[in-house]
Amino acid sequence: MTKDVDPAEGVALKPEEKSKDVTPAEDESMEPRWKVGDRVFAVWAGNSCFYVSTVAEVDAKNRKLVVTWDDADMSHRTVSFDQVKEPADDTIAWSYSRIDKRVTVRDSTAKGRCLFTNEACEPGKVVFVEKPLLVALPALAPKLWEKLQQLHEAQPLNLGTITFHFAAMITLTQLDAASVGVIMDKYVPDPDEEPNEDVTRILSSMKDSPEEVLKCKVEDLCPKKLQRLVSAWRYNSFGHHKEDGLVLYNRISMCSHSCDPTCCWSYGEEDAFVLRARVALSDSDELTISYLQDEDLLKSTAVRQLKLQNWKFTCSCPRCDLKID
Ligand SMILES: [Zn+2]
Repeated sequence: MTKDVDPAEGVALKPEEKSKDVTPAEDESMEPRWKVGDRVFAVWAGNSCFYVSTVAEVDAKNRKLVVTWDDADMSHRTVSFDQVKEPADDTIAWSYSRIDKRVTVRDSTAKGRCLFTNEACEPGKVVFVEKPLLVALPALAPKLWEKLQQLHEAQPLNLGTITFHFAAMITLTQLDAASVGVIMDKYVPDPDEEPNEDVTRILSSMKDSPEEVLKCKVEDLCPKKLQRLVSAWRYNSFGHHKEDGLVLYNRISMCSHSCDPTCCWSYGEEDAFVLRARVALSDSDELTISYLQDEDLLKSTAVRQLKLQNWKFTCSCPRCDLKID
């Protein structure tokens, strides 16, 4: 289970929050500020998130632009002027050294490692912007994706999807040792978990596959390490906002859940995670997000607690501690 699989429905993307970032509508008498070739950040109507694009046509009369999306998606290319803004500093990933000046990972007795701010932050302001450790999409290894799909169709995997196993295998076969180590270090409920039925079945089926499917020898994959990575992806990743795949962030994965979170989020350029303060933050405050979708946050404590069992923890946030919710 990933956090907030469809971010369009997540806490981060309430229209009123997003509208603050949009360039104010220009005066009708003014020349349009956009011209063909400009690099802009525009709203893709598929999920109402901002994406990077280049202006392909300007329709000043109707106050609309046709844009070419950086990821070559051909849908929803016409956007109105008020859905466009210049790519800004608050949408581009920060360096880790800049992020680490802003936030600290600290152990808390009740919840393990959590993330805290080192400075005060006003509501709506960016806390930091982080680039993904890995975006595990089918295009990274189409033959492996296809092979896992076939296995899943023949007999469904227990997790109900191939994305976690795919991401874990991509981690082992395509990342350097240091990056694998970072992902191995992510929270899992049982760090000593033995390879389960799915992992064993996948690895044994790979023995007959040509090497090009895995891009390495199956004997080189340690089953226990693979199991740990499957769990690391399961408990720390986010569903990709456009494609069937997963995204994992290093610092953000330390953000714990609250049903009344201190932060909200949206996507920036190239799958960057833009974390913003939802409330006024003081120095040393914990940074929390909601792992649940907006509609689930509106439900009772009992329902929220049940949904949160997907992440194998019992929420003890201030809302869950209230006698009546
Ligand atoms: Zn809660």
